[in-house]
Amino acid sequence: MSIFSRKQAPAPSNNGGSALSELALNSINDGVIIADANGTVRFANPAASRMVGANALLNPIGVSYRNVLQLESKEGRAFSEQENPLIVAMNTYRPLDAFRCSLIVGNTGKRIPVAVSVVNANDAARSRIITFRNIAKELEEEGAQTEFISTASHEMRTPVASIEGYLSLALNPQTATIDNRAKGYLDAAHAAAKHLGKLFQDLLDVTKADDGRVKPNFVPVEMVTTVQNMANNYNAQFNKDGKVHYTFGSSDGRLMATDLKVAQVVYASVDLNFLQEIMDNLMENAIKYTPAGGSIWVSVRGDGDRVLINVTDTGIGISADDIQHIFQKFYRADNSDTREIGGTGLGLYLTKSRVEAMGGKIWVESGFGEGSTFFVSLPRISTEEYNKRLFVLKNQQQFAAAQAARRAQLRAAPVTPAARPAMRPTTMQPMMRTNQQVKNGGKI
Ligand code: ADP
Repeated sequence: MSIFSRKQAPAPSNNGGSALSELALNSINDGVIIADANGTVRFANPAASRMVGANALLNPIGVSYRNVLQLESKEGRAFSEQENPLIVAMNTYRPLDAFRCSLIVGNTGKRIPVAVSVVNANDAARSRIITFRNIAKELEEEGAQTEFISTASHEMRTPVASIEGYLSLALNPQTATIDNRAKGYLDAAHAAAKHLGKLFQDLLDVTKADDGRVKPNFVPVEMVTTVQNMANNYNAQFNKDGKVHYTFGSSDGRLMATDLKVAQVVYASVDLNFLQEIMDNLMENAIKYTPAGGSIWVSVRGDGDRVLINVTDTGIGISADDIQHIFQKFYRADNSDTREIGGTGLGLYLTKSRVEAMGGKIWVESGFGEGSTFFVSLPRISTEEYNKRLFVLKNQQQFAAAQAARRAQLRAAPVTPAARPAMRPTTMQPMMRTNQQVKNGGKI
């Protein structure tokens, strides 16, 4: 029996039910911790003690759950108080359902991938039951599955691109002559090939995001101009059909400006490729799901320690039933309005995963037929922090550029036998020098 269960062993009772429950808790491989309303650990089963790296010196009983269950994101990023899902669930007295992250094992520095859940015990003490399951094997199996999907999508993209290319040639009056009926068939085949190409590309992106292959590369940026530039890329599309009215607004948390006459500055540390993907998905959806005559607004504002990006449209909206699922893989709202609109159902899943990889959150407010607002909130940094990170980044870039230039110089320079020993000092050099010195009467 572990130190925890010994400490926790209830007084011997003739209650067969509680003895059985204890037996069950002691025999399972999932960690179970019970904390009181103050967050103090009152019980930990043997699996919990093993997983958190408890020993005679590190006893979780009587300690705050925060010190016992130290979590970080599955990408290995430290959580802030506000984004740590366990702390949020405990503070708000809300449940948490199998949240995937890493558990730091005691002082060993070891990490275990876990799924953490929290439920209320519904007792007078307002206790919370925290369970955590080691998901290493699960991740391994998912990894193999992901690898297969990733390889398959990669392999299938090439022939699909070739089909798409030949269909474009067949449909181009400068390269082929076809009658109207054939054009109708080829148009349909072309649209299907394009959809398939997009599906493989999205699948590839999603599998890469799922297996954590693409790690965020954080750079400090000013968010108002960055997001505005990304959203403005869609100007051509707003004008192409001449149907959607577009506005950009910004605020530093005090003022709201619908143009940039008042310069707003809000800083964050983001991966620019991730941010571009997020904006692409939200903008493409806003355009796709907004009928002619509608409007789209994009705004960026500072909101305390967060940066809030809104993408609002006056489009078809999303029903309450669909809202719960739209961030899931392959989910597409199915109604008479969406049926005609193409899509893979992977865009918002990928968007959510990109937002979370940067320590952010995404949610939507909408109603069927009422338009939608997608919110992305990311951690904000102060002006001082921005300047500091920019300074470090510039130094790193200069150093990398100098290294690259030096490597290029070395590659370009002809290496003569005489030059070689000077460029590449070896352990033989002292001996060679000594021989030389002998020849020159002791001088080099
Ligand atoms: P899709 O490729 O189908 O657009 P997404 O994952 O981007 O996939 O979106 C999932 C679903 O969410 C869409 O099929 C659509 O039903 C709904 N949706 C997303 N954005 C909007 C929007 N701006 N307005 C209305 N519905 C939307």
